[in-house]
Amino acid sequence: MNGNVMRNFLISIVIPVFNEEDCIAETFRRLNNVRLQLSSEAEVELFFVDDGSKDNSLIILRQMAEINKFIKIISFSRNFGHQIAITAGIDASHGDFVAVIDADLQDPPELITEMFRIALTGVDVVYGKRKSRAGETFFKKTTASVFYRLLNYMCDVEIPTDTGDFRLMSRKVVNAFKQMRERHRFVRGMVPWLGFRSVALEYERDERFAGVTKYPLKKMILFATNAILSFSSKPLTLALRLGAFTIFIGLMGGLYALYLKLFTNIPIPGFTALLLSIILFSGIQIFLIGVVGEYIARIFEEIKARPLYLIAESINI
Ligand code: UDP
Ligand code: MG
Repeated sequence: MNGNVMRNFLISIVIPVFNEEDCIAETFRRLNNVRLQLSSEAEVELFFVDDGSKDNSLIILRQMAEINKFIKIISFSRNFGHQIAITAGIDASHGDFVAVIDADLQDPPELITEMFRIALTGVDVVYGKRKSRAGETFFKKTTASVFYRLLNYMCDVEIPTDTGDFRLMSRKVVNAFKQMRERHRFVRGMVPWLGFRSVALEYERDERFAGVTKYPLKKMILFATNAILSFSSKPLTLALRLGAFTIFIGLMGGLYALYLKLFTNIPIPGFTALLLSIILFSGIQIFLIGVVGEYIARIFEEIKARPLYLIAESINI
């Protein structure tokens, strides 16, 4: 990037797509504008990753890719999930810079130009930070905020609040990211883990252009649990502490009972306390075995070392 060397950069834009037939055409139009806008400085390729869509998404993408060779498509054999779709796009792209953006236009594509300009000043990661979230329910905003707080408490890596997967990364970061092959992926935590010079770019998050969210409550809870369990072993530490605390309470109770027996005439209260404490503490034990089990399940999943995703079709690659 020394002023005397003129160089044309390649920017790859990765777009995960799952049942977005009503968004794709408009998303393409806006991204194509960005491409034209940047044409004097950089070449832009669009990497659509079809995550096993069941609607016409792939058909529309295929038609677009026939005319425009800068559109590349990877189509999965089935739905593998948002985070894996992003990963596949990053894996396949060759850009000097790689941007990731959702297909629903909640994140304005035009910002990629700005991200690129910032990256040119020597920044390796430019991540979008939401100033507001138009059209999202109070419930989603609150749960999201609680989730990020909890996550940051649990994790050793600082994960910036209000960020999603909208970001631009340099080739250096992408190559580092590609070495992380874990199955339970939480990309917005993995990138901060990598380090490198990162800068936030604030923006207003729009409403979805069309269609409905592909993250219903159940998927959201799964995403959140996954993030915590695959990013931190703190739940195990907390379990240990809870265990220690319980033992302490038990010992205190025992000493108190001994005191009553030896030094007073008060009869030691009987069955109710006994029954309640048995129920309570077996509950705690079962719960904690469950926590440990979750980690074992993750070890099991990782050790099988199955491929992260399967590609059924690639176009223009
Ligand atoms: N997506 C995907 N696979 C999935 C779910 C979602 O590739 O299993 C894509 C989806 O098409 C969109 C992006 O991931 O481009 C984010 O999904 P969505 O907008 O539904 O999530 P939200 O913004 O509501 O959290
Ligand atoms: Mg969205």
